[in-house]
Formats: sequence, C-alpha cells, structure tokens
Amino acid sequence: MAGGPNAEFVVCYQCGSKAERTYEGRETDKYQCGEGHEFGLDWSRGELPNEPQWPPPPELLEHIKANKNQ
Ligand SMILES: [Zn+2]
Repeated sequence: MAGGPNAEFVVCYQCGSKAERTYEGRETDKYQCGEGHEFGLDWSRGELPNEPQWPPPPELLEHIKANKNQ
C-alpha cells in the first residue's frame, strides 16, 4: 500500500518534474520522473498523504529549482 492513491504522482526532488510511481511496496514506493531520475519514498514514517502529491505547492517547486541551479 505504501503511499496510497494520492501518492501515485509526486514531484522529483532532483529536477522538479512529475514522477510516476513504478513500484508500490509495503513501506516504500519507487518512482521515476520524466527526466529519468529514479528514487524511492518511504511512507511508513509519517502519515499517508490525504491529497494528491501532484501538482506540488509552487513554493516547493521554486525551492527545488533554486537548489538545482546551484
Ligand atoms: Zn527528475
């Protein structure tokens, strides 16, 4: 179950683009973004998202893009 239906799409923290879940685990989901970044998110430590994780808040997107350009 991991992140549940609201975690099907998330933001890629490396580039800020949309990432799709490629594998749903018991605690950790795996994702791949349109730029080819692969990563896992561990949902077992917090509450499951109660609203869709995509689109992300504009502040978060700006934060990611600012870090990317450093
Ligand atoms: Zn990415």
